[in-house]
Amino acid sequence: MRETFLPFSIPTIGDEEINEVVDSLRSGWITTGPKVKRFEEAFKSYTGAPFAVPLASATAGLHLALLALKLAPGDEVITTPMTFAATVTMILQSGGTPVLADIQPGTLNIDPEKIRARITPRTKAIIPVHFAGQPCDMDAIFAIAAEHGIAVIEDAAHAIGTEYKGKRIGSLNSVSVFSFHPIKNITTGEGGMVATANEQMAEEISLMKFHGMNREAWKRYEASGTPNYDIVLPGFKYNMMDLQAALGLHQLDKLDGFIGKRQELAQIYQDAFAEVPEIATPSLVPYPHRHAWHLYTPLVRIEELSIDRDRFMVELKARNIGTGLHFKAIHHHSYYQETLRIPAGELPVADYASERILSLPLFPLMTPDDARDVVAAVKDVIAANRR
Ligand SMILES: *Cc1c(COP(=O)(O)O)cnc(C)c1O
Repeated sequence: MRETFLPFSIPTIGDEEINEVVDSLRSGWITTGPKVKRFEEAFKSYTGAPFAVPLASATAGLHLALLALKLAPGDEVITTPMTFAATVTMILQSGGTPVLADIQPGTLNIDPEKIRARITPRTKAIIPVHFAGQPCDMDAIFAIAAEHGIAVIEDAAHAIGTEYKGKRIGSLNSVSVFSFHPIKNITTGEGGMVATANEQMAEEISLMKFHGMNREAWKRYEASGTPNYDIVLPGFKYNMMDLQAALGLHQLDKLDGFIGKRQELAQIYQDAFAEVPEIATPSLVPYPHRHAWHLYTPLVRIEELSIDRDRFMVELKARNIGTGLHFKAIHHHSYYQETLRIPAGELPVADYASERILSLPLFPLMTPDDARDVVAAVKDVIAANRR
């Protein structure tokens, strides 16, 4: 057994990030300023996004992108049950009604045919989630959206560096929302970005992110600026700080290297678990893509075992292997059980995955030997708990 605990994820922070943060701390300017602007430009050139708005989190990005749609009571937004609460919570916080469409087995991405079946005259938007960093079937989703004249907001929290048919997520001519939370593929501590091709939407989100103020503070304090400002709408406090962007600048430089490491580790898992019948490995989408491997999320075939998934995770922890849960299906959480009232059996694929899924350790600082330790521990738990 492994002697030290292997966590499910730790961020990769180097001297470049540390020195850049220290540089901000010593500079006299720590909140939104020139480094946020540089990070925004670097992000646009990496993703190919025409416009980008740096924010405090992806949750803030989802909130503002949804508010920009100006939903009326009763307006519906279709999303996946296999996501973090923020996706669905922000639909509610923007005045919309969440509608869940089931996922595809294997990739766990939202199923376009299930979206189609959920469209009503009240549908205003679709929020696909590029689960684990694999792109959703965007041609199919854009076709449905165009047919019904509705918006698409991509939840790209897992998908910085993901490519769909040769294009980076962020450049698909829609709106995409990225996260830089510490477990995501790059981190700014907390942070997020909205990428869009729609200039008006970018401007609106920029205004809403900082009190509805018509000029950013750092410009007001520049030598040529005036301290006067105007509030043009009732906004939020969702701006990103220079301290955060200082991290992001160097993380973005390292992203392709991080993804390379993630791919290598994921391949070790894929090859090893192909021979373990109790583990169902994630399947790859059939169209050209680059998987960013934000997560490695197999399903445990609990019907072959005497323990459930939660116990399986406890057993792995006892063997010094950390795990994550991405995700317990949204409609299984008590608040959403009570408010969405999804009839039993309406989302069978998500129900099945929710009871069986777990996230194994996957982060760039892991070694191939660490991955082999995980495989050995998984096999050991299975051998000790076969039905
Ligand atoms: C992490 C995550 C979010 C929220 O990101 P924050 O930056 O923490 O607000 C939203 N959606 C999905 C699918 C996520 O995994």
